[in-house]
Amino acid sequence: MDNVYIFDTTLRDGEQSPGASMNIEEKLRVALALERLRVDVVEAGFPISSEGDFEAVKLIADRVRGVQVAGLARANHQDIDRAWEALKGGENPRIHTFIATSRIHMEHKLRKGPDQVLEQAVDAVRHARRYTSNVEFSAEDAVRSDPEFLCRIVEAVIDAGATTVNIPDTVGYAVPTEFGGMIRDLVERVPNIHKAVVAVHCHNDLGLAVANSLAAVEAGARQVECTINGIGERAGNASMEELVMALRTRGDQLPYTTDIDARYLYPTSRLVSLVTGLPVQPNKAVVGANAFAH
Ligand SMILES: [Zn+2]
Repeated sequence: MDNVYIFDTTLRDGEQSPGASMNIEEKLRVALALERLRVDVVEAGFPISSEGDFEAVKLIADRVRGVQVAGLARANHQDIDRAWEALKGGENPRIHTFIATSRIHMEHKLRKGPDQVLEQAVDAVRHARRYTSNVEFSAEDAVRSDPEFLCRIVEAVIDAGATTVNIPDTVGYAVPTEFGGMIRDLVERVPNIHKAVVAVHCHNDLGLAVANSLAAVEAGARQVECTINGIGERAGNASMEELVMALRTRGDQLPYTTDIDARYLYPTSRLVSLVTGLPVQPNKAVVGANAFAH
């Protein structure tokens, strides 16, 4: 009950950092390091986005063991079919499908009304379930979505078979008390929520990604999405090493566990820095060169 799943998206969201692209051998090296670190889920890429991403997801799904391998897909059949094509050789593949649920994204990006978005989400989850029982749904831009609608779509996708529901702070706008409250509300209001794991995916635009993720865990989330060194779009994602070490160091305040073998956090941080070419700032918490220099 109090174990928190670690979902690593270094190879998907992390790779979207400007200048961080990795070749297929580098991606496999990172995936094997994540396997050794004992993360629960490796999000290996977005198979329909390019031939290279497809090949990388396929190679990682075929080679990595003891870890779930996820592939990202927009909420349509073509994306989901392509994701499955890449994932199907894996030991425990997960299809991760998403659609935006905030008014601004629905109106301007999708040009759809809430009912159409809900219908598309349900259809996508049902389609993914034909391939695997391990399906994650993400409500993109959840933090800026209408709370009533968010509850409605979460309930509907769980009914359709989603086993993980992710509440992302896509634009890195939330603050911890607010975000924890959102998760608590969702857990209290969605009647079938116990049938799925609640996940969070926080961006670091205000430097709050780790704090927001921990507030969500206290409110009932049991999967956190994060990256090594906190790399990712714009200011990045929640940093895995900070999340894991906060939980380990402050178990008195945060009584939750992870399966991460913390001995491998530092070598994995070095490897990701090496293959992405993104240096780790010296004062970075946990893995920076000066972090233990006092
Ligand atoms: Zn993201």
